[in-house]
Amino acid sequence: MACVTLKNINKSFGKIQVIHEFSLDIADGEFVVFVGPSGCGKTTLLRMVAGLEDITKGEMYIDGQLVNNIEPKDRRIAMVFQNYALYPHLSVRKNIEFGLKMRRFPKKEIQEKVLWVSQLLKIENLLDRKPKELSGGQRQRVAMGRAIAREPKVFLFDEPLSNLDADLRVTIRTQIAKLHNDLKITTIYVTHDQTEAMTLAHRLVIINEGIIQQVGSPMEVYHNPVNQFVAGFVGTPQMNFISMAPSFQDTTIHFKRRDFSFSLSSERYERLRVYENRAIIVGIRPEFIKIYPQNERYPIQLSATIEVKELLGHETLYSISIGEEKKLFTRSFPFEDYPVGDVIPVSFQEDRLLFFDKETQKRIYI
Ligand code: ATP
Repeated sequence: MACVTLKNINKSFGKIQVIHEFSLDIADGEFVVFVGPSGCGKTTLLRMVAGLEDITKGEMYIDGQLVNNIEPKDRRIAMVFQNYALYPHLSVRKNIEFGLKMRRFPKKEIQEKVLWVSQLLKIENLLDRKPKELSGGQRQRVAMGRAIAREPKVFLFDEPLSNLDADLRVTIRTQIAKLHNDLKITTIYVTHDQTEAMTLAHRLVIINEGIIQQVGSPMEVYHNPVNQFVAGFVGTPQMNFISMAPSFQDTTIHFKRRDFSFSLSSERYERLRVYENRAIIVGIRPEFIKIYPQNERYPIQLSATIEVKELLGHETLYSISIGEEKKLFTRSFPFEDYPVGDVIPVSFQEDRLLFFDKETQKRIYI
């Protein structure tokens, strides 16, 4: 196990810089998940940690040791990819043994390690099969077993579940969580999948265009995003964003759009005064728009039309329009049923409203 420190890491391919001043301290035993849109630099970062990609500028430390010039094989890092990368002509047992033999482990120790990982991952009965005789989920478990057998200091996962069907993703995801709980190997995990990111991470690192946007626990990032990018990236369906101009009148603040508005007591919104009569972005998550008349908790009452309804079983998602605002999302409990075309009362939970500067996209803290 080891801590990993990335200090002002920059990476360029030719003249194009893809990672900018990336600094992050990953604690010993921590599970960190990198998320961000395609091309934001997640894989490049993993490859630099593994030593497969040069660092253009900056310093990388593993366990306090500067590793910029240390060979991948000497970094004690294991990487698991989405395409497993097993040797097709070798049995599962030989695949797991391979790295250990290369490192000249004694025969007895190799046997013990194979037994240990195969029990850990429940692949004892697959040891004599070839990779082509395995299902996708089994192959992924073998790939993990091979990585674990080497007792790495750091585990790197690059979208390890993206080739698996939905059921298997859940099963292996749970196994990865359990494995981490048991072994506590420092882990960096890259994914596009929101559920994987939210369920596995101790901390999420949200990246856009090679720049860290926010680092925090899943709950922190979900409820307390620092900018509009993070707010919009984390959560499905996305947070609703409405461009509105605040104005103050006596003890009231009015939020206006062309064809609808709402008002609140102005006491807590003093910070918005500098934005008076300028458009700002008001953000609210779907679960904080409720389909029912206002009450104390949900004081903002508006009238919405149901445009699209998606029954998911455990919940129903609605795309609604309020005036010219065509695509806002809300969700309801399974047995509340509102037909498409209905006009319904919706209420916003005031203490869940977030505000963003329209130009800088930064959060306006009130
Ligand atoms: P995805 O989620 O699609 O896998 P990613 O976030 O992992 O994307 P990277 O693969 O790290 O993104 O790529 C980051 C940027 O670096 C992209 O713009 C990509 O085109 C560029 N890039 C990656 N590898 C190279 C390379 N060998 N040569 C030139 N550019 C590269």
